[in-house]
Amino acid sequence: MIEIVLASNNKKKIAELGTLLSSAASKGISVLSLRDIGFTGDIVEDGESFEENALIKASVPASMGHIGIADDSGLCVDALGGAPGIFSARYSGEDADDVKNRRKLLEELADVSDEDRTARFVCTAAIVLPPDSPFTVPEDWRIPDELAEKRGLDPRRAMVVRGECEGVILREEHGDGGFGYDPLFYFPAFAATFAEIPGEQKNLVSHRGRAMREFTARLAAILKE
Ligand code: IMP
Repeated sequence: MIEIVLASNNKKKIAELGTLLSSAASKGISVLSLRDIGFTGDIVEDGESFEENALIKASVPASMGHIGIADDSGLCVDALGGAPGIFSARYSGEDADDVKNRRKLLEELADVSDEDRTARFVCTAAIVLPPDSPFTVPEDWRIPDELAEKRGLDPRRAMVVRGECEGVILREEHGDGGFGYDPLFYFPAFAATFAEIPGEQKNLVSHRGRAMREFTARLAAILKE
């Protein structure tokens, strides 16, 4: 049984990943949380990109001798130069929540024309292997040397994948499903927002679905070595 640690304490995320991974990998995999390995501190996500923040989180279990995985995601709006980006969760300030974040987004885009309201959701998923791991990341999948150096990581032991999903930010909310910016994110191919479609349908096209499918396939290959 291979143990991997998801750098999160979110039970839903952990259970979901456990299912995804065990169907993708031939060997048994169990997914643990940070709490399971006795980490109770805060992780400072001060990276400059989604990739860097996912690596920062995945490095925590790796520094304690475990295989670490983590994700990072957000919304990038073209008319706002890519904002809120890595600051998506705390866009409206210290006491940010989904409702306040959506309100702020609508305010920022109030004067932006319909054709200029394009945006994309981005999700990155990272793995960091501990220094003595018997597994290595194949050359084509390694993180860039520059990023490895910045984070003090061995590129043979770190990988990050990205999934994106293009849409348009509406002028008002539609639908009450999903979370975060979903009620404002119109996906043209479905002629609906992400808050108006079932979760399984969103998964087929979403940034997270794309990133996690690629990630789990690669992870299965790495752990098969
Ligand atoms: P995190 O990856 O959990 O840190 O998510 C960052 C933030 O990005 C969330 O709080 C949401 O505001 C936003 N976000 C990420 N993914 C989605 C999504 O699928 N739908 C809506 N909002 C999202």
